[in-house]
Amino acid sequence: MNTSPLPASIASLPKAELHLHLEGSIQPATVCALTARHGIILSEDEVRRRYTYRDFTGFIDAFKWVTSFVREPQDFALIARDLCEHLLLQGVVYAEVTLSVGVMLLRKQKPEANFEAILRATEPFEKHGLRLNWIFDAARQFGADAAMEVANAAHRCGSKSIVAFGIGGDEMSIATGEFIPVYDQASNYGMHLLMHAGEVGGPDKICEAVELLGVERVGHGIAAAQDPALMELLAERKIPLEICPTSNICTGALAKQLGRKEATLADHPLPQFLRNDVPVTLSTDDPAMFHTTLLAEYENAARMGLDEKALSQLVAMSFDHAFLTSKEKRALRQTAGSSLERH
Ligand SMILES: [Zn+2]
Repeated sequence: MNTSPLPASIASLPKAELHLHLEGSIQPATVCALTARHGIILSEDEVRRRYTYRDFTGFIDAFKWVTSFVREPQDFALIARDLCEHLLLQGVVYAEVTLSVGVMLLRKQKPEANFEAILRATEPFEKHGLRLNWIFDAARQFGADAAMEVANAAHRCGSKSIVAFGIGGDEMSIATGEFIPVYDQASNYGMHLLMHAGEVGGPDKICEAVELLGVERVGHGIAAAQDPALMELLAERKIPLEICPTSNICTGALAKQLGRKEATLADHPLPQFLRNDVPVTLSTDDPAMFHTTLLAEYENAARMGLDEKALSQLVAMSFDHAFLTSKEKRALRQTAGSSLERH
């Protein structure tokens, strides 16, 4: 018996995913293959244990652990192919995938070589109906100079498929204003601008990202629920929050925002954002590390009380806020099928 709360009409829609980290998408079996390449034999159960945490620090530690095995261009090719196969299973036709280039640089890797291997591995999936673009991501706690190197690496790669520059990592580490020259440079390079903000930090972090850096989408941004004026501003300027419900539970970010020890999906502000006309997109963030999928996130949204119309709006918003030209969006929707138009 099908117990999914998700209407079949929504499950079958082609989807876009805009907040998704390549390095957070490495399934346990692929982690085992990766570690074996580097001389360490692990069981999938051991990987699953590593992929269990109670707070944001625990998650960051696991992220550091798994990325320590992604060392060479062929490792990136392996995990990128794995991601594409999983996205196709979820009905995803378009994704903007974040690459932790700040981590690559910290580990003295060559982003150009890694990115070339990633493109070679993923471009063949276009003929199966999956188009990818890329976001080069710096880690906030590594500082503004390191972030500038990420923007410069994106420019050196010289690929039109690198559509945006973003910053993630420890939101509480370094003041937002320090990154103004980096965002100016990324903008000069022609990249769209993103930042993780208001995930564990307060609404002020979101305001700063919007007002000081000019970000066009906000990663997570769940703190906005505490600030009606900020929700109004996001609605007015049509700046979406990239919502990743399971991630917010697994990292303890939602509990932190609520000032509690625990939080559940019933506490998630997604329905509140929709009621306040704040644009949102729905994503998985680090699906393997949070044991989730895009369809599971749509099921979560349905469990939060979103009806079929609201769910189909969610699907549509993830295309609307993609960093694509209107012409590209139209073409994607046409090839993605007339099913979107039925809603
Ligand atoms: Zn993220």
